[in-house]
Amino acid sequence: MDEFNPCLDCGICCTHFRISFYWAEADDAPGGFVPAEMTEKLNHTLRCMKGSNQVPRRCSALSGEVGRQVARSIYENRPTPCREFPVYFEDGTPNPKCDELRATIGLPPLPQSPLPRAA
Ligand code: SF4
Repeated sequence: MDEFNPCLDCGICCTHFRISFYWAEADDAPGGFVPAEMTEKLNHTLRCMKGSNQVPRRCSALSGEVGRQVARSIYENRPTPCREFPVYFEDGTPNPKCDELRATIGLPPLPQSPLPRAA
């Protein structure tokens, strides 16, 4: 049975932060991995994900409807800030920041323990 993955129905973190990172994480630099065409230059050392440096914010890699069903087209190649934001239950505990962000758009709190996904 699949484990409950609240990120598939949420996505609020992808619409809340300017997602900025060292420019060489983009794949037009040696060893870079983030698709460069999905980024924009901030200054001579930083880039950000397109769509995250404006209001309303929405990372260009996010598809779907926040709070219902979402997907991230570059999940395997996501930049450092996305890797450092703890996914809910990643370490076996809820990330309280998720519920804080969800509350900003009226989404209910997430369960406090992992639940199997409904079939
Ligand atoms: S806010 Fe938390 S639960 Fe929602 S998508 Fe981001 S990491 Fe997942």
